Amino acid sequence: MHAGPTMLDVFERNFDTAARYVEAAAGVIANIKACNAVYEMAFPVDIRGEVVTLRGYRAEHSHHRTPTKGGIRFAPDVDLDEVKALAALMTFKCAMVNVPFGGAKGGIAINPRDYTVEELERITRRYTVELTRKGFIGPAVDVPAPDMGTGSREMAWIADTYAMMNPGELNALACVTGKPLAQGGIRGRDAATGRGVQFALREALRYVEIQRQTGLSSKTAGLRVVVQGFGNVGGHFARLAEADGMRIVGIGEWDCTVANPAGLDVQALLAWRRERGSIKDFPGGVTRDRDAFLDLDCDVLVPAALQNQLDEATAARVKARLVVEGANGPTTFTGDAVFQERGVVVVPDIYANAGGVTVSYFEWIKNLSHMRFGRMARRVGIRTQLRMVQGVEQLTGQVFPPDVVEDMRSGAGEEELVDSGLEDTMVQGMEEIMAVRREHPDMPDLRTAAFVCGLQKVALAYGERGVWP
Ligand code: NAD
Repeated sequence: MHAGPTMLDVFERNFDTAARYVEAAAGVIANIKACNAVYEMAFPVDIRGEVVTLRGYRAEHSHHRTPTKGGIRFAPDVDLDEVKALAALMTFKCAMVNVPFGGAKGGIAINPRDYTVEELERITRRYTVELTRKGFIGPAVDVPAPDMGTGSREMAWIADTYAMMNPGELNALACVTGKPLAQGGIRGRDAATGRGVQFALREALRYVEIQRQTGLSSKTAGLRVVVQGFGNVGGHFARLAEADGMRIVGIGEWDCTVANPAGLDVQALLAWRRERGSIKDFPGGVTRDRDAFLDLDCDVLVPAALQNQLDEATAARVKARLVVEGANGPTTFTGDAVFQERGVVVVPDIYANAGGVTVSYFEWIKNLSHMRFGRMARRVGIRTQLRMVQGVEQLTGQVFPPDVVEDMRSGAGEEELVDSGLEDTMVQGMEEIMAVRREHPDMPDLRTAAFVCGLQKVALAYGERGVWP
């Protein structure tokens, strides 16, 4: 679909646009833009009796805060430029949503569909050995997470390999996030990015400027939504959005689009894909070609598959008035220009998909504290609330509705606390973006505003730290 500028070109263009609004010395800006460290490796893996050489990468974009943080993707065309661009996005994403990490990203150039589970385990473990040997992973150094083609299973292999190579390391599990619950994971991480996209969509529509420009109201129920990518981000988002009353009128996948103007049954579609490995021929919708999702009538488009999907040609086809970027870098700068010209609002990736890294941050903190969130305070919270109910009942002579009291009895567990922290982060993030936007009425879009938010904070951190030695 795309043969234009690379992700790195797009990042650099967006960065330069934002840098014009930030007061910092040119040398500092240039240093912030540059990628601090990269590790490109070629390692052998035994695949069905043959020695196969695989290429792996890890880029740490900025050490202004450590550890650095960012996902690992398994994708056939991943290369050094791509992980450098993705690592840079992570730096500004973390800064944007006040997560105290520098940005990083890694990948292995494979199509995970081509390998068995045992082979994938060997590949992942070998990659982790390489990262460990070169100091590109560790709880205080660089903490990977899931991305395209990887999930909690791969993160468990990484944690286990790192722990084996670092006996006695108390915080070994904090070397990676997105792990299964039984291996130091946190409740809510799997769905966190999709959930964050849902919050981003809701928050964007709370602002009158955005309502005016899109012609949409703050009411999300009834919105017609198209999603590209039905994986971790797109799948969870679609499920949560449907539960929230939105109508998922189309899903675009690697092999086809499935559409239904009356709304798809997302749970049934997930089950269909689980059984058959594809959404194709789903009886609850019409199967069309891969790019057909672009032409569907809808209010909101959520690209949640891969980068460089919305360029000059494809952006012109989009019917949505609001684009919420679940994927990293789905819109090129020519795509952005088309959207600006047509008055389509784009909620940018470095804010919209920051839910994943936010909850990864919570997981890392949980691992370092060696305790589940809520364990110390939950009972105290429940007792305090019930005591208050008693007091009010005594004073008023009235009885509280039993279902409200029942709700209070369960208190806030880890899942509720994670969701609360995520929601707060997304609410505040949008407030910060809109504050910057209002300060600079000439700013072209929300992407520039989000970059400026992040860039200002990174520049401040450089200022505090200076250059040493
Ligand atoms: P995933 O591998 O779980 O899902 C990707 C989905 O996109 C799959 O269902 C795949 O079949 C589909 N896909 C692949 N090629 C496609 C194509 N050409 N057209 C349409 N669909 C295609 O990956 P994910 O973790 O959901 O990541 C998706 C995007 O979100 C990536 O850009 C990633 O960097 C970004 N992201 C992920 C997270 C996270 O927590 N997983 C966090 C932030 C951003």
